[in-house]
Amino acid sequence: MKVYKFGGASVKDAEGIRNISQLLLNEGAESLAIVVSAIGKTTNMLEKVVNDYYDRNTPNLDDVKHYHYAILEELFDKSHSIFDEVNNLFVEIEWAIEDAPTSTYAYEYDQIVSVGELLSTKIVSAFLEQEGIANKWIDARDIIRTDNTYRNARIEWELTQQQIAKLISNNGVFLTQGFIGCTTENFTTTLGREGSDFTAAILGFALDAEEVTIWKDVDGMLNADPRYFNDTKLLHQLSFAEAIELAYFGAKVIHPKTIQPLKEKNISLRVKSFLNPKEEGTVILEDAEMKPFMPSFIIKENQILISISANDLSFIVEDHLSYIFSLFAKYGLAINMMQNSAVSFSVCVDNDSQKTLPLISELKEGFKVQYNDQLTLCTIRHYDQAAIDKVVDEKSILVEQKSRQTIQFVFSN
Ligand code: ASP
Ligand code: MG
Repeated sequence: MKVYKFGGASVKDAEGIRNISQLLLNEGAESLAIVVSAIGKTTNMLEKVVNDYYDRNTPNLDDVKHYHYAILEELFDKSHSIFDEVNNLFVEIEWAIEDAPTSTYAYEYDQIVSVGELLSTKIVSAFLEQEGIANKWIDARDIIRTDNTYRNARIEWELTQQQIAKLISNNGVFLTQGFIGCTTENFTTTLGREGSDFTAAILGFALDAEEVTIWKDVDGMLNADPRYFNDTKLLHQLSFAEAIELAYFGAKVIHPKTIQPLKEKNISLRVKSFLNPKEEGTVILEDAEMKPFMPSFIIKENQILISISANDLSFIVEDHLSYIFSLFAKYGLAINMMQNSAVSFSVCVDNDSQKTLPLISELKEGFKVQYNDQLTLCTIRHYDQAAIDKVVDEKSILVEQKSRQTIQFVFSN
């Protein structure tokens, strides 16, 4: 049994969906679980609907609707029942936004944004059927059981494994939604942005899959993001440990939560291109030697560097530090880099102003706080001097931090 995951970019238009069907025919898919994300940028569009709804602006579904109906018209005859199914899903959103919100933003978000994945999987499933690829559409909310941490739900592993065993077998093609789950009280949840990779890993784990393949519009994991570097190279093979490091430092190709379940069962993870399916892509395996061995560059933009010192210039002592950490946790800010000196402690985080502004004002109650924003964090794994020169080149570096394998720079743009 294999697990395939197709992201939003792979199903962004009718041609993409046709390509998936051709790819499955070529691969001779037989014993397969397929996870699909929302079409193209649907999740962003639905986020906007939720925000407008929650802010009491008039939410508008027209763009999402046009986008989906245009694809349907290219793929299906007007009389196909998929038109009704898609219509019903839009009606669900319309109902959800009819009355003023009664619950938290995160709850409303999950009820509405999750429909993106229901739409895409209904469409892909119907199209595969039409092309002769028999498949069973599974509602992920019947298998992925979570707690009620809306927008970032935690998996209830026992229940999830039981449900997957009940509903998915080794025989045939099963197709389900990434990113979404359900509480035991039957409320829809989501697993965090880009969570579809994680869904694929959960299925791989529960099904003891041979391999999980993430199909992307790039050739695999590259040693740098082509938006910032023009001489990127493909990583052919790496270990789970290395993949976790790269994902942790912000490499965008796979969601960091994806790796743990696969590592636990030693299921290989392949990242390859749906445009060049004959190419091997990148394979991530337990203890695999990194091939080729070379520096990897990870760029994170829109960073804020917050420097915290005690009002009386005393040392930043342990109890200060534990309190400071608890505030970062309280506002859900993951620390990308930190450094301390005798009198101050500096932390670099993503500048999400919804979180950083209240954090800074709370920090100011007890400490002296200074910050710089609009910064970039560059991490180089397996650095050498040439790699450093490439990045540093006339930039004004605010912080540099180095360990044996990794060097990080925070610089202003
Ligand atoms: N559709 C969701 C998102 O865009 C989940 C995913 O694509 O993995 O974040
Ligand atoms: Mg996506």
